[in-house]
Amino acid sequence: MKTERSEKLFKEAVKMIPGGVNSPVRAFGSVGMTPRFIASAEGAYMTDADGNRYLDYVGSWGPMILGHANEMVLEKVAEACKKGLSFGAATEAEVDMARLICDMVPSIEMVRMVNSGTEAVMSAVRAARGYTGRNKIIKFEGCYHGHSDAMLVKAGSGVMTAGVPDSSGVPAGATEDTLLAVYNDLAGVEKLFDSWGKEIAAVIVEPVGANMGVVPPKEGFLKGLRKLCTENGSLLIFDEVITGFRLAKAGAQEYFDVQSDLTTYGKIIGGGMPVGAYGGRKEVMEVVSPVGKVYQAGTLSGNPVAMAAGLAQLQYLNGHPEVYAHLNALGEMLYGGMEKMCKDLQLPYQVNHVGSLGSLFFTDQPVVDYTSAKTSDTKKFAEYFRYMLENGVYIAASQFEAMFISDAHTDEEIQHTLNIMHNYFEK
Ligand code: PMP
Repeated sequence: MKTERSEKLFKEAVKMIPGGVNSPVRAFGSVGMTPRFIASAEGAYMTDADGNRYLDYVGSWGPMILGHANEMVLEKVAEACKKGLSFGAATEAEVDMARLICDMVPSIEMVRMVNSGTEAVMSAVRAARGYTGRNKIIKFEGCYHGHSDAMLVKAGSGVMTAGVPDSSGVPAGATEDTLLAVYNDLAGVEKLFDSWGKEIAAVIVEPVGANMGVVPPKEGFLKGLRKLCTENGSLLIFDEVITGFRLAKAGAQEYFDVQSDLTTYGKIIGGGMPVGAYGGRKEVMEVVSPVGKVYQAGTLSGNPVAMAAGLAQLQYLNGHPEVYAHLNALGEMLYGGMEKMCKDLQLPYQVNHVGSLGSLFFTDQPVVDYTSAKTSDTKKFAEYFRYMLENGVYIAASQFEAMFISDAHTDEEIQHTLNIMHNYFEK
């Protein structure tokens, strides 16, 4: 595979951009490779600067759920662009977006648009603290909630890949109200409530862990969190940046039938444009300015072009529930196929999956939390990653990320992917 152009671009990039990338997981550092610079994408495929074509299982880390460069989305974006790129004023599209999110997600009565998942979480945590008048937040090891100071404790995703439990540059004071719990360990959360009960503003959780690789919630875990929060007057925040509008119309809360008080969203509601949002019950959301005393703002929030892209994608998802059946069937085919392959070839590895999200862990231990996820052999992952990439299958360059399937993937492409994996494990 020819990679000269990517190599050249990377050499240039590292001189001017830290690590050559604008977000750490793009760097391919943990797999010891040079990142491929992407030039364009369409449907289930991406093409790099050297003209190599890849079957894509990253999907811009989730938002490209209908596939890349979806015609219908592009048309709406083009229409919006002609009318001006930003007004810094209220627009009709924002009203349409808010109405659509409230319609699709029963737990949401009010919603505020922001520009990223990080911002959504930072703002939702502030709203939860403002609403409850309490400071402490429970977060889970290995869950990633963006890079705001309070959330950078044993975070997943790039933080985990880099092997740093906590970021430098975060003052101790910024995280002293962040209590850590173990994912899937309800008893541990109960203990924290026993000690801190009336000081806990919120529990924030990825309803499916997707930033330590995919870690599904155990039966009763989310319902148990719901109960503990209700009993203690704390808010339950579902960070649905990954699961929202992906597992079902109303995301993980519909899939697992558990309601959150506040929900955070990211990229998927922008259809590929930089967007995030947080929402929940009216009485909670009314603490946010200018109605309430929790300050939160954004010059480009609700940007008309981003709203056009996001609306086109969400309206399609809302009107086509068969997309979810398709995504889940493709997930079953891919991850079920991987499970069968591991069994047939006697590979002691773990395949974790929920719907269209999944991960292969190179460990013989069941992966149920951060500690067990870390038993995965990342050297073996790096070898596997390299083979997949060289054979035209683009997966996230880290053990601790999910695979994302889009509606543009087909049975044939899933089978092709399984064949390549099979070739790798048999070689
Ligand atoms: N929460 C979760 C669950 C995420 O997966 C991410 C990023 N993938 C974020 C928050 C942060 O979102 P962003 O990168 O848009 O700031």
